[in-house]
Amino acid sequence: MPLTATKSCPCGSGNRPLDCCTGLILHGGEAQTAEQLMRSRYTAHTLLAIDYLWQTWSPQERATSSPEAIREWAGSCQWLGLEILACERGLADDNEGSVTFCAHYRLDGREQHHLEKSLFRREAGLWRYLRHAD
Ligand SMILES: [Zn+2]
Repeated sequence: MPLTATKSCPCGSGNRPLDCCTGLILHGGEAQTAEQLMRSRYTAHTLLAIDYLWQTWSPQERATSSPEAIREWAGSCQWLGLEILACERGLADDNEGSVTFCAHYRLDGREQHHLEKSLFRREAGLWRYLRHAD
């Protein structure tokens, strides 16, 4: 579903985009929980907001990729939806947490999904994506 046809946020929260991920991505808001950051990073893939993806990835971990690689991957997919399957910690009073999710997308004409347990950590007060759990 193209973004213009949806009135709720691409992350599937049911909230208006500006009250949800788009407010964080385009207006410099900061996620209060690991789940919010996870949702906004999914939505950033749909918007090709590569700077946001880069900024919200822990500097110690992102040496394994590049903004160009992220852009190529995100742009090659048609993003179909996000399911949040589980959250552990990652709340406003926590410094670490994990979010298990399934992202649905179409690539090369086939519907596919990416299932991941992502680890998040608060760095200098801000939630950052670390990496997927082993
Ligand atoms: Zn959202």
